[in-house]
Amino acid sequence: MTARAGLTGRVIFRGDPGYEAARKNWDPHTDRYPKVFVFAQRTQDVANAIKWARKHNVPIRPRSGRHSLEVNLSQVNGGLVIDVSDMNKIKLNRKNGTAIVGTGNRVGRIAHALARQGFIAPFGDSPTVGIGGITLGGGIGPLQRTIGLISDNLLELEMVDANGKVIRANKHRNADLLWASRGGGGGNFGVYTRYKLKVLRAPAQATVYRIIWPWNQFERVLRAWQKWAPSVNTKLGSELTIGPKKGGSVTMEGLYLGPRSEALRLLQPLTSVGTPTSKIIRQVPYPEAVSFLLPPDPVLTQRYSNQFSSGFARRPFPNKAIRSMRQFLENVEGEDAGFFFLNWGGAVSRKSPASTAFYWRKAKFYVEWNSSWIKQSDGPKNIAIVRQTRRNLQPFIVGSYINVPDQGIKNSGPVYYGANYPRLRKVKAKYDPKNVFRNPQSITPARRG
Ligand SMILES: Cc1cc2nc3c(=O)[nH]c(=O)nc-3n(C[C@H](O)[C@H](O)[C@H](O)COP(=O)(O)OP(=O)(O)OC[C@H]3O[C@@H](n4cnc5c(N)ncnc54)[C@H](O)[C@@H]3O)c2cc1C
Repeated sequence: MTARAGLTGRVIFRGDPGYEAARKNWDPHTDRYPKVFVFAQRTQDVANAIKWARKHNVPIRPRSGRHSLEVNLSQVNGGLVIDVSDMNKIKLNRKNGTAIVGTGNRVGRIAHALARQGFIAPFGDSPTVGIGGITLGGGIGPLQRTIGLISDNLLELEMVDANGKVIRANKHRNADLLWASRGGGGGNFGVYTRYKLKVLRAPAQATVYRIIWPWNQFERVLRAWQKWAPSVNTKLGSELTIGPKKGGSVTMEGLYLGPRSEALRLLQPLTSVGTPTSKIIRQVPYPEAVSFLLPPDPVLTQRYSNQFSSGFARRPFPNKAIRSMRQFLENVEGEDAGFFFLNWGGAVSRKSPASTAFYWRKAKFYVEWNSSWIKQSDGPKNIAIVRQTRRNLQPFIVGSYINVPDQGIKNSGPVYYGANYPRLRKVKAKYDPKNVFRNPQSITPARRG
């Protein structure tokens, strides 16, 4: 019997043509060498791959959009990567306001396809992130105050469990798995192959904006933003990016699901701050709004490696926190480094923290920061400055976002999942009691008893 027997779909072993291309992730320094990649074409290929891995005692990693922010999540040395990216159908049901999507789709592909048909699909700040991974971790973005997290719109799912059994979950059947899949994070319960998402009718037009300030105005802009953004009209999403002192600037962008005249008024508390060097506030047909925020990005593998860290703020950052930010931004050496903020409130915060696995709903804003490097030997100092900044900011944030993980966080379960962690461990014990699906920060099954 050859090693290949039992595997179906597009199968690439180490040494086969296409292996190096299969290893490429968004992070260029992916330093893991899996034994084999299976590019599943259908759910049965996923089931066969799981059974094969169990039989040969090979670790498994599911993969969709290859955008994981740590290099060891969707690849593992000597393991089997089950990649669902070829499973990328999109089927809109206009009457029910639902879309069934293969988990191999990228967020941008779904958002553009649905916008052209008059519907809103949720998205974040990058078109190439996989719907597979982003949904499982929560899925945050500029539309969340209107329609909720991406995972709040997950109505049904299809998943293959550790025995190769196909499981479907919705609010009536396997409701605990649906609950856990709305924010519990990828790589924990099984390999997901299909999602049914709720989608809303899009407005004919929306207003998009992008305002840029010089870097040295970041403190003024941030102070104004953090007072304004969490309580502004919930149809307005706002992302604030602050680059490093060396070469960076301050950019606020997002959209308002309404006319430009109202957007001008709503944005005024920010447009009146400092001296913006560029100001775009444009009313466009909804599909163009999606293109403005998700411009085509053909780059699957970028030049830099990154270390991120993330958290949620329940109060505006006081001066002490802003001083820690300045220290980071002045000293960080990575070209692609800085802070990113996203406003909370609206549909995200209306749901209770226990209503889905995504716990951190009662915040004012989300914050993440990162540094980057090209030469692998520059990694440790960049990782160190990001982690030191986490220690400095710890008094001013709670939790951390599982989709923007930091493997420097010890005992990470309650940090990612708050009070939902014990329940997640029970769901894990039910659907994957032998902990077949695991990674360095995955959920450990609750002990029976
Ligand atoms: C450039 C960039 C921009 C981003 N912007 C945003 C944003 O705006 N909003 C946001 O919320 N997040 C954002 N993220 C974070 C993103 O949500 C996570 O990195 C997410 O995990 C990526 O999913 P993926 O399918 O592309 O990645 P992958 O590398 O394929 O997988 C990531 C994780 O999910 C697991 N997983 C993937 N597919 C499956 C599956 N089918 N079944 C079970 N487990 C699976 C993997 O095992 C791994 O643990 C961004 C990331 C990048 C790199």
